[in-house]
Amino acid sequence: MNQSRRHFLKFAGLTAVGLCAGASGVLASSGGGSPAKPNKETLHATQWAMVIDTRKLNTDEAIAPLAAACHALHNVPDVPTRQNVKWLWAASMEEAFPDFPNKYQSPEVEHRRVMLLCNHCENPPCVRVCPTQATYKRPDGIVTMDYHRCIGCRYCMAGCPFGARSFNFGEPREHLDLAKLNKEYPTRMRGVVEKCTFCVERLEVGKLPACVEASNGAIHFGDLSDENSPARKALRENYTIRRKPSLGTEPSVYYII
Ligand code: SF4
Ligand code: SF4
Repeated sequence: MNQSRRHFLKFAGLTAVGLCAGASGVLASSGGGSPAKPNKETLHATQWAMVIDTRKLNTDEAIAPLAAACHALHNVPDVPTRQNVKWLWAASMEEAFPDFPNKYQSPEVEHRRVMLLCNHCENPPCVRVCPTQATYKRPDGIVTMDYHRCIGCRYCMAGCPFGARSFNFGEPREHLDLAKLNKEYPTRMRGVVEKCTFCVERLEVGKLPACVEASNGAIHFGDLSDENSPARKALRENYTIRRKPSLGTEPSVYYII
């Protein structure tokens, strides 16, 4: 890292615009230097997981409002090029599950659109390849980012086999409507990677992820270690698959087919 980059990170990155994902990070970088205080509302888990019902959430029109809610909440810039930043997006069945389709499956299943996001893998290669530990796995299984530590090498993007990470090639705030910024959540800077965080900042105050809340029951969320959690119940009662299971990353996002 050159001197100007180091200088910028040290003095610009630590100022009013906080850059850590999650409420703890927001608090830590919002000035005053006081550590985040325990919140009795915080939701806890050993391994958070999401179960998405593709029978209900199966069109671009159904998925778009969830992406809009996520991106508005997290100040995700809308960059009108291939350098776009995305935390939640729609893809075809074939893109989502390249090892799943066969020529005899039902056309209805074949033509479903699938909601994609970071899988919060139990065995995340993105974490293994990050040289600065800017991306790390929390004790509750959430794979998240410390933007202060990101040097923009993009090893994590190469390491993720799901295309779940985006790089800020330019200044992200140029592609945000500053009048509509969510002032409760930090914006990022040019040269860092970002992605879905399973809404850690909402879990910390006792709320479910925004996409889960907006899904009208099409997404189940909960702790895999709790057999009474909505996620375990959905897994018990439905046929589910995960993305690219042969890679061994153990995604924490499951899909009801
Ligand atoms: S989906 Fe990609 S970015 Fe998310 S935890 Fe897995 S390897 Fe990392
Ligand atoms: S869990 Fe939160 S951050 Fe992740 S896609 Fe859903 S709304 Fe976005």
